Amino acid sequence: MDNRLPQIKTPLPGPEAARVLALDHKYVSPSYTRSYPLVAKRGEGMMVEDVDGNRFLDFSAGIAVVSTGHCHPDVVRAIQRQAATLIHMSGTDFYYALLAELAEKMAQITPGNSAQRVCFANSGTEAMEAAMKLARYHTQRHRFIAFLGSFHGRTFGSLSLTASKAVQRHRFGPLLPGVTHVPYPNPYRCALGHKPGACDCDSIGFMEKLFKTAVPPEEVAAIVVEPVQGEGGYVIPPRNFLTRLRSLADRHGILLIFDEVQCGMGRTGKMWASEHFGVAPDILITAKGIASGMPLGVMVARAEVMNWGPGAHASTFGGNPVCCAAAMETIRLLQEKYISNAARMGEYILERLGNWREKHPLVGDVRGLGLMVGVELVKSQQTREPHPEARQKVIRRAFEQGVLILGCGESTVRFMPPLIVEREQIDYALEVLERCIEETESSMG
Ligand code: PLP
Repeated sequence: MDNRLPQIKTPLPGPEAARVLALDHKYVSPSYTRSYPLVAKRGEGMMVEDVDGNRFLDFSAGIAVVSTGHCHPDVVRAIQRQAATLIHMSGTDFYYALLAELAEKMAQITPGNSAQRVCFANSGTEAMEAAMKLARYHTQRHRFIAFLGSFHGRTFGSLSLTASKAVQRHRFGPLLPGVTHVPYPNPYRCALGHKPGACDCDSIGFMEKLFKTAVPPEEVAAIVVEPVQGEGGYVIPPRNFLTRLRSLADRHGILLIFDEVQCGMGRTGKMWASEHFGVAPDILITAKGIASGMPLGVMVARAEVMNWGPGAHASTFGGNPVCCAAAMETIRLLQEKYISNAARMGEYILERLGNWREKHPLVGDVRGLGLMVGVELVKSQQTREPHPEARQKVIRRAFEQGVLILGCGESTVRFMPPLIVEREQIDYALEVLERCIEETESSMG
């Protein structure tokens, strides 16, 4: 497969894709949300080939998962070697070296100076369940504070924190009691309607008010936050927000949980997004990019916080040896070359997007940290009214021109390519995106 640029050979969807779509529509859960009919067959590096031989440049990375690109040969080798040696033994009841070695590695690479301990899961949502349980266990308090716009997963505990789209919660209540949502500081679109730049104060001030009125702080186990909000719209908080959150939590003996499922594992140009802000959590969870596509979730906590005993929490498959092997190799590759590439390429993307607001009335805001880049589309730059229909059109048109991108928030296009992306591929994808924005601008008047 030509692993550098797209090639579209058939109408989309092609004939084989149409066959799979018919089958899928008949048998697969209708709860999935597909933006366009990509039927993937093979992946290599930045490229995905569909079942009809069309090749796409992947700026979605399977929703921020294939951090080292599709089927990185070193990761594939590590998976194959481990699969031929030991596929499963369950770390809950037995020991194996890879589990302890990956725990050591995670403890070494997570922020903070204190000793850390690690608990394994299979996904982001499971890692969050573990974090919530640990926070309750350790503090013996029951409440949580989470942020509007946040996404932390879809199982009952994590869903109680998730507040990115109402449809994700609709008809699933009552959810976990004791969860209070507060506004996430969004410099472009303050939830409280305040002027840009002032909203970090408002979020902290809002919580301080809550603690005096509706939510006794001595009942709050943890504040759960994405250092950069992902599904909620690729929102980068003001510089001092996490520092102020840290001191608010400390003042009340509340744990701080960072959800680095999407923004972690090098995506922002540092191993952890929170490193950009110089703040360490008490508990950190990650998943997605950690094992280049193998299912793995991890919760890392300060050793003194992880004070639960045998039987309190575990998972049969969590930390499966094949996933651990993929994670060890992924971390090596990220540290050796791809995190620095993410930082460089992220800067390059932002530089290229620098004048889009001036050039395109549809573009309300451009923001990014490393390879977590959002372009927010609006009906009017003055009113900042979101334009979800335009966003869907742009994404669909980009697919038809061979570039895979997804949306987030109400009307943001997000760029989250594998961390291996090169300039030439960025140039290609941005040319396509700009063309799609122009076409959408003229088709929608
Ligand atoms: N946390 C964040 C920040 C996420 O973006 C996601 C998934 O998108 C999750 C948690 C849940 O992860 P998973 O889908 O692996 O359960």
